[in-house]
Amino acid sequence: MLITRATSFNLTILHTNDVHAHYNEINTFGGQCNNIENCYGGMARLKYKVDEIKRLYPNTLFLDAGDQYQGTFLFSEFGGTIVHTYMNLLGYDAMALGNHEFDDGIEGLLSLVENSDFKILSCNIATSGEPLIQNKFLKSGIIDVDGEKNRHCRLHNKRYTYTIQAR
Ligand SMILES: [Zn+2]
Repeated sequence: MLITRATSFNLTILHTNDVHAHYNEINTFGGQCNNIENCYGGMARLKYKVDEIKRLYPNTLFLDAGDQYQGTFLFSEFGGTIVHTYMNLLGYDAMALGNHEFDDGIEGLLSLVENSDFKILSCNIATSGEPLIQNKFLKSGIIDVDGEKNRHCRLHNKRYTYTIQAR
């Protein structure tokens, strides 16, 4: 006789992509925000909301599907340094590399992959000819999401595809 125990498991997934260094709040036209009544987005609002949701739903994954790089003067001025600084502050669990993460070449990617507090994933980048980034990111990752180390979320780096594996 085979006896199995069914358990329920709630998982909340928060997700961003194509942030493109838009860390400041914007107005309704995507420009500089000058009137607080007409301001949206920005890292401060994102941090507030992510922290609130994590408090309400402890089994939360916070993921990014790439293209954090490029798009505003902040990236032009500070490159990958500002990206990993903001992403570490926001508390991401994992990120998949996008094509724009290579806009400043391999050297421009190093700041992100060497200073991130979260997993960086890519399963379709051949690094044999690029020793600087060999072993700097994972093809897949396992993240504990309920603190009991018996449930995991296996992440595969096909954009928007995450296989949930509860044990
Ligand atoms: Zn993009």
